[in-house]
Amino acid sequence: MKILLLGAGGFIGVNMVERLLKDGAHDITAVDIEKTKLEELGALSNPRMTYLRLDIRRDNNALEEEVKKADVVVDLVAFANPALYVSDPLGTFQLNFIENLKIVDYCVKHQKRIVQFSTCEVYGVTAASVIGKDPKDMPCPFVEDETFLIMGPINAHRWIYASAKQLLERVLHAYGLQEGLNWSIIRPFNFIGPRIDYLPSEAAGNPRVFSHFMNALLYGTPMKLVDGGCNFRAYTYIDDAVDCIVRILENKGGVCDRQIFNIGKPDNELTIKELAYLMKEVFDEHFREEGDPEPEIVDVSAEEFYGKGYQDCDRRIADISKARTLLGWNPQYGTREVVYKTMEYFVDRFREKQRAAAAAPASANA
Ligand code: UDP
Repeated sequence: MKILLLGAGGFIGVNMVERLLKDGAHDITAVDIEKTKLEELGALSNPRMTYLRLDIRRDNNALEEEVKKADVVVDLVAFANPALYVSDPLGTFQLNFIENLKIVDYCVKHQKRIVQFSTCEVYGVTAASVIGKDPKDMPCPFVEDETFLIMGPINAHRWIYASAKQLLERVLHAYGLQEGLNWSIIRPFNFIGPRIDYLPSEAAGNPRVFSHFMNALLYGTPMKLVDGGCNFRAYTYIDDAVDCIVRILENKGGVCDRQIFNIGKPDNELTIKELAYLMKEVFDEHFREEGDPEPEIVDVSAEEFYGKGYQDCDRRIADISKARTLLGWNPQYGTREVVYKTMEYFVDRFREKQRAAAAAPASANA
């Protein structure tokens, strides 16, 4: 199968490329404006992958040609970082809806199957929180084809991301109905693992929470608990996620045709505050070296951390029975292992940097 992977250079893309090249069953055309992570993986010299530096915002003709040649188009192109939804809502809409819609249109025109990455944020907040109940007291698994999608008000403009993704899902569904488009939609629930994000002390920006807490453990910045870290997340290890994604791509027996899939690990649920303490514990137990900082854990308000317009998703529990039943998929990695393995990636890179910095003056003098 010829897979066109749009947004192949990001966290999910590069982990997919690694797995697909290992399997060796398919040919990949990897499109991204960024190739650093693909380069680090050694994927650029693999004969089963072609890398194209195309910008989906501009290189329309070249993109359409690639869609024509593909058996399946995988669309991973997105801004997927809450800090960006708040600081650049228009850019978020432009990329996550307008530009993605163009890809969908090419797939309609050339009758190609599309696997569209969406987000668990389309579910918004829990019904419990809307009726003033504590989300902890009401089990609320999100079911792909049943659960209502509850977004906050317009002035909480973080929801522009979820709304753009939701509208894209609705357009795909409509194209399926009216033009016969074959689509599958993936709603990722907090994937983490090697190659996620950067550390804020090493690059500008405001990445996701794991990187902030990792930064605290390595560079001594405070671990900031937004609104006391009371909200829940359930982290899914990237290898588990990719295993499910590959099954969706391969689509044996057409079971994924016009289906939405949650990909998550519901029993990995914890609050962000618990995540902070767990990360400290795992770091101390396995990775701490002499001289490493002891970060403090502090509370900050959401407005202080993100600016005006942020509103949080209180709780996200994926119902994954569809993926289990249709695909025989069963995620394996528990929270502690997910944290350990992701942390190992960051620590290894950091120690390597430390060693290189320590060696630099000596070699300069030699
Ligand atoms: N958060 C936090 N401290 C940080 C960064 C994020 O407490 O340094 C919180 C954030 O408010 C949210 C959760 O951690 O409740 C997860 O945020 P993240 O940016 O990782 O992405 P999300 O899961 O919301 O997409």
